Amino acid sequence: MNLQDYGWNNNWQKQFEAYKHLNTNEHLTVGRVLLEHKHSYRVMTEFGEWLATPSGHFQYNAQVRRDYPAIGDWVVLEQMPGEEKGMIHTILPRTSLFSRKVAGSSVEEQIIAVNINYIFLVMSLNKDFNLRRLERYLIAAYDSGANPIIVLTKKDLCEDPSEYVDQVETIAFGVPIYTVSSFTGEGIDLLQQLLSDGHTGALLGSSGVGKSSLTNALCKENVMSVQTIRTDDDKGRHTTTHRELFQLPNGGLLIDTPGMREFQLWNNSGSLDSSFNDIETLAQHCRFRDCEHKKEPGCAVLTALAEGTLEQERYNSYFKLKRELAFIERKTNTQAQLAERNRWKKASNQIKKKTRR
Ligand code: GDP
Ligand code: ZN
Repeated sequence: MNLQDYGWNNNWQKQFEAYKHLNTNEHLTVGRVLLEHKHSYRVMTEFGEWLATPSGHFQYNAQVRRDYPAIGDWVVLEQMPGEEKGMIHTILPRTSLFSRKVAGSSVEEQIIAVNINYIFLVMSLNKDFNLRRLERYLIAAYDSGANPIIVLTKKDLCEDPSEYVDQVETIAFGVPIYTVSSFTGEGIDLLQQLLSDGHTGALLGSSGVGKSSLTNALCKENVMSVQTIRTDDDKGRHTTTHRELFQLPNGGLLIDTPGMREFQLWNNSGSLDSSFNDIETLAQHCRFRDCEHKKEPGCAVLTALAEGTLEQERYNSYFKLKRELAFIERKTNTQAQLAERNRWKKASNQIKKKTRR
């Protein structure tokens, strides 16, 4: 197996060399995580695909979800003698990471995928078209470290896509925008060109916008035959093996995970500014530095709103998102405080136990 087909390059090689430099273990090799099971991972190595588990030392050092491998990771591992199995020693530093808070009250993080080069923000050129939603996807993309690319689908249904493109440009400064149709194939080749040379992509967008159709179009063949490979298990039965990271005909890779599809709202507030930098730019001209743009005199944001250069809807969505982010932050803080308190309780109980002995 040539790992370059899975995205291996000089940068990864350098990281691997740096790790090997600190280690005397001569059996180290690398592989990319294709699928995550409960406690193990399907990893593609130059010797083929292995089932791999983290070493005891690895697990001892791992504290939070991020410390464990995820789909798209490059891991350093060693083969278990005589088996198609591996033991994972470390994860090479990630270039991008998609995560979200797990639904419900928990603030546990779910890692959706890592080391994505291009994140395609998919939206259709019809009634699903929603700029506010796209703003959220952009925030997630900025937070992840992957390069966002906007893909407007179902071009065959749209009389005048340029109208939509103009709208998107007002919120997505400098982000490439492609208009495509998976039905006619228009524009697909340009996306395929991006996804070549071991570059990894993933699609993000609401249900019904055409992600499955686009995936099929990018694969040029039925995606099921790419995604699932029939293998024989030791009992001679046929089993189908599911992959969440798979190769495209053009030499690129695509990550398609359930989590990617369930995506809703990411919560790293750091990127609010990059997505709303028209408002942030206006805010620099407010009279007061701590202006909240609500009723302060000399507020440049309110002036723009009154003059019509800033849309009411955009102004509203800025505050809506700000409130949501503040809410998640508060929740996170409360949970963090609780966790901290529990930790102290545990520690002091242990001390009590010890002193009693
Ligand atoms: P997903 O939920 O994002 O994976 O969306 P699907 O790929 O399942 O597509 C949702 C619906 O849109 C289906 O009925 C598709 O047939 C339709 N669709 C997808 N791509 C196109 C396209 O390029 N043109 C048209 N006219 N319909 C499309
Ligand atoms: Zn202001």
